[in-house]
Amino acid sequence: MSFSALGLCDELLKTVAEQGYTTPSPIQIEAIPAVLSQRDVMAVANTGTGKTAGFTLPMVQLLAGAASLQGQGLQAKSVRALVITPTRELAAQVAQSVQNYSRNMNIRSAAVFGGVRIEPQIAQLQGGLDVLVATPGRLIDLYNQQAINFDKLEILVLDEADRMLDLGFIDDIRDIQTLLPSKRQTLMFSATFSPDIKSLAKGMLNNPQLIEVAGANSTVDTVKQKMHPVDKARKSEVLIHLIKRYKWRQVLVFSRTKHGADSLVTQLEKAGINAASIHANRTQHARTRALEGFKNGDIGVLVATDIASRGIDVNQLPCVVNYDLPDIPQDYVHRIGRTGRAGTSGLAISLFSDDELKKLQSIESVIGRPFEHEIIPGFAPSPKAPADSSDDDEYGNFEADPKPQGRGKSKGRGGKSSSRNRKNW
Ligand code: AMP
Repeated sequence: MSFSALGLCDELLKTVAEQGYTTPSPIQIEAIPAVLSQRDVMAVANTGTGKTAGFTLPMVQLLAGAASLQGQGLQAKSVRALVITPTRELAAQVAQSVQNYSRNMNIRSAAVFGGVRIEPQIAQLQGGLDVLVATPGRLIDLYNQQAINFDKLEILVLDEADRMLDLGFIDDIRDIQTLLPSKRQTLMFSATFSPDIKSLAKGMLNNPQLIEVAGANSTVDTVKQKMHPVDKARKSEVLIHLIKRYKWRQVLVFSRTKHGADSLVTQLEKAGINAASIHANRTQHARTRALEGFKNGDIGVLVATDIASRGIDVNQLPCVVNYDLPDIPQDYVHRIGRTGRAGTSGLAISLFSDDELKKLQSIESVIGRPFEHEIIPGFAPSPKAPADSSDDDEYGNFEADPKPQGRGKSKGRGGKSSSRNRKNW
């Protein structure tokens, strides 16, 4: 399957080629023609599947086509397509993608989110926009300040709708919906298809085409998942050991709490590892700086809370670590979706202590299979210890630096049998 078979115009085919994309991803194969046919779409797709291009490419094509038919420019304060995202980082990320994907078209786009001054955003809206990417709270603020007008809205996209509900934005979304024209095209994307999402979709979408590329709640096949039992008090020691031993250069670590994230960063830095945290208590500037440092390699370890992690899109992130298991089991799926993106392989390491067994079981029921508990040599939890099953090669495959690391290939093979019955791991 090629992009040209999906009905994209020449400008967009040129753009995807410039991005280096040769084949559309499964979600793109389904979503692009569906959006181009101007139907509503409900897409259940894990993160990292290429869904942003899946809705942005056809959306900008529709906008460009409609604009040339009408032959008119943008109206002051009006927005033709609105993309709502749950977090600031995701809004910035999606807006960047919209810019990239519309670079060969005459499309004006911007992002608005909280945590930064509102005045420049009001100024950006003044002349009208083709595409606005927004978080719910700031969007409502802008509306209340009469900086935005939805009369000309043609397309609404709800990105990561499940996350929007988890974060308590349901009332905001419903409020926003009442402000929008009822005649519009609506696209909803969600990593899971829970009963709450179904009911939200029912109220917002009109006879939608349902697109489901990976089963709801399924974890990405290209991610190798490891579940390690450890003593709670030794978690930071274990993480430092793994980072040093396997020479990880770029690892995203999930912490359950903001405080936990900061104290882990302190311990990593004491051990000589460059690290930074990203969570809601940090200023937008500090979060952006941490993310940039992580992307350009200055910071090897980024410690994030779930909320802050949503917009982190680093190409081919080799490894994520669940330093704490998430409270919401679906977050496990979101977290590990940060690695193994766009068909590249990835590694997801989870450390769990005795007090997290209930969370572990909830995750297993969400993803529909049990984990093996693999002891890390030298870090068996006290007092009981299942059989050792760690495997050096499996970790070594994911080092960011492809140069030889001085470890023999044959080392550590003894534990391989532990995963012999796993189909997808
Ligand atoms: P997303 O799921 O939208 O966050 O996209 C995940 C990553 O996949 C991004 O880094 C995109 O640049 C990349 N990507 C999207 N579509 C393709 C494609 N057809 N081929 C290769 N990479 C892609």
